[in-house]
Amino acid sequence: MNKENAMNAMKRLVGILVLMAVGSSLPAQAALKVLACEPEWAALVQELAGDKVSVYSATTALQDVHHIEARPSLIARARNADLVVCTGSELEVGWLPLLLRQSGNARIQPGAPGYLEASQFVPRLEIPKMLDRSLGDIHPAGNPHIHLDPHNIGKVAQVLRDRLAQLDPANAELYRTRTATFIARWDAAIRRWEVEAAPLKGLSMVVYHKNMAYLNAWLGLREAGSLEPKPGVPPTTAHLADLVARMQTAPAKVIVYTAYNNPKAAEFLSSRTRIPAVMLPYTVGGSDAAKDLFGLFDDTLARLLAVLK
Ligand SMILES: [Zn+2]
Repeated sequence: MNKENAMNAMKRLVGILVLMAVGSSLPAQAALKVLACEPEWAALVQELAGDKVSVYSATTALQDVHHIEARPSLIARARNADLVVCTGSELEVGWLPLLLRQSGNARIQPGAPGYLEASQFVPRLEIPKMLDRSLGDIHPAGNPHIHLDPHNIGKVAQVLRDRLAQLDPANAELYRTRTATFIARWDAAIRRWEVEAAPLKGLSMVVYHKNMAYLNAWLGLREAGSLEPKPGVPPTTAHLADLVARMQTAPAKVIVYTAYNNPKAAEFLSSRTRIPAVMLPYTVGGSDAAKDLFGLFDDTLARLLAVLK
């Protein structure tokens, strides 16, 4: 290496070192740390806040949110979180109270600004008149699976915008602008989905778990039965035999299950009745196409419309 080359190499090295020093001295980009209980709320936070937050979802589309463990890595996330966004209505009753307690983080306890329960801000379906947990019902506060009616997502977005602005006033204007942009795009998408889904009206479906109630109410679909004999109780041979008999006299158009369900019961019923079984993504990440909230609804409708072809 001659003298000139050595000098150039030295200059480049100094340049790299200067860049590294600048990079490490910059303040952290993300102002808020958000822990979402479900992928749909993590996706919504990301839409409204962009790079002003770092958001982590406690669960994935491949997990049944009713049954999660408050594992140490989640407790560590909760300890540092500025905001926790969950569905509520007892969907996470098996693990969230423990997670919040173990976190020792006063800012995210129920009642604090850093705690947001999405289902409190939408009209809930299937609120039981009488509660009997011995029947295995895990929806005692009404059906908590609210996000498959996109109007509910729009309602939660407005609450979330205000909460982000309250917790991080320096970026309040950005949250307002981004939310307005999101809601305009979302409302346009809802109008498009409602036109596309018109042929689905009246479609009868057998569900796996009662997690399609809001989708059905939105689009006028009918639930003809569920593979679980009661919400939260796994399919039994006797219940499946009963469903086979019922489907022979009054067949549903489709059997749906979600990315986190074992497909066996749906496939069994499908093989006995020749009713197609269709996997729906249920939430963001539940299929390749459900990359974000828009993709979730695009893909859900595409999969249901394919049944009619
Ligand atoms: Zn449920």
